Amino acid sequence: MKQANALLAASGTTIFTVMSALAVKHNAINLGQGFPDTEGPEDIVRAAADALLDGRNQYPPLTGVPELREAVAAANARFYGLEVDPVAGVVVTSGATEAITACLMALLNPGDEVVLIEPLYDTYLPVVKMLGAVPKLVRLQPPHWALPHAALQAAFGPKTKLLLLNSPMNPTGKVFTRDELAFIAGLLRQHDAYAVCDEVYEHLVFSGAKHIPLATLPGMAERSLRIGSAGKTFSLTGWKVGYVSGPVPLMGLVAKAHQNLTFTTPPNLQRAVAYGLAKPDFYFEGLAAGLEERRNLLDAGLKRLGFSTLPASGSYFVTADVSSLGFEGGDVAFCEAITTQAGVAAIPVSAFYAGDGPRHYARFAFCKQSHVLEEALRRLEGWVAARPLTALA
Ligand code: PMP
Ligand code: GLN
Repeated sequence: MKQANALLAASGTTIFTVMSALAVKHNAINLGQGFPDTEGPEDIVRAAADALLDGRNQYPPLTGVPELREAVAAANARFYGLEVDPVAGVVVTSGATEAITACLMALLNPGDEVVLIEPLYDTYLPVVKMLGAVPKLVRLQPPHWALPHAALQAAFGPKTKLLLLNSPMNPTGKVFTRDELAFIAGLLRQHDAYAVCDEVYEHLVFSGAKHIPLATLPGMAERSLRIGSAGKTFSLTGWKVGYVSGPVPLMGLVAKAHQNLTFTTPPNLQRAVAYGLAKPDFYFEGLAAGLEERRNLLDAGLKRLGFSTLPASGSYFVTADVSSLGFEGGDVAFCEAITTQAGVAAIPVSAFYAGDGPRHYARFAFCKQSHVLEEALRRLEGWVAARPLTALA
């Protein structure tokens, strides 16, 4: 038999699926894969249920139902002062995952160079490679994950087509500062390159940090594609409704990519998300405040157990240094051990590196109910107390 796709054949199953399966097998509390353990807002779920029953269940328009395209444009204006054309400047996708692929398909030709920032979300690199583009990786360093200006500048060259930026960032919880964004914007202008901005955690920001879309910086709106996810904004990760907004000429290409990927996204979910995006400010503020409380709970609890943790001002995740407790077996062994022995799952941060990355960080999701986080901490406490960690190395 001829060899099937070499890239897919060589890649494993995503770490999120692997750790969730291990968590189920061992009845562990899943602080690995990032999903809330409660339903999203009841009124939005009801809006979706109502929308199923009122007779619009055939293919919706290719780029999304008008209600949602208008709501995405209105949200861009309301939260960031960005002007977006609701007719031709928005494409609704089946999750941000599809949106990322559609944006990369829209912009890349084989041989183009793409600047990626490590640690990086797990779909970026395979898609860039599958499109025949060439990744140029720039690494952020813990604990503050500051942008290394010289390394970033060196990653840009005449073949640079785009930079993929994830802010707020998974897994670090970093929110890029205005100064960092200004530096990136300068390089994009200088090299006449595009930005694909994965902003799925745009509303999950705390510790006084502020999410600034790159598209709001001078000269960036015309070269940036901005991606959002209803999964994150409304705690409904299973819905897989994403949206891209950007300049009309580029969005026409994103639409063509989308037509070849999924073509459309379920209309009832789109209509409910349109309703959700129009919610008053206190909904969005409450979402962030609730997550900040649980970030604090988990972060303080992990510190109490002796882990040092890295600062996180956005997203669903806190990163703990597993070597701080004397565990030297590496992050993968640590995450497997706590899942199978303590009954708490986490994600090894080395999964977010293309090559050899640090191997002593574990990512814990705090988008869970407080009592669940407390129980997870109790389990970890018992586990830590019961064994001399160096013996596990
Ligand atoms: N980008 C990042 C950085 C993520 O963490 C995730 C995980 N949800 C996604 C994209 C995918 O979002 P969606 O579930 O909407 O496809
Ligand atoms: N984005 C989620 C995370 O980082 C996982 C999504 C997925 O499982 N594909 O945990």
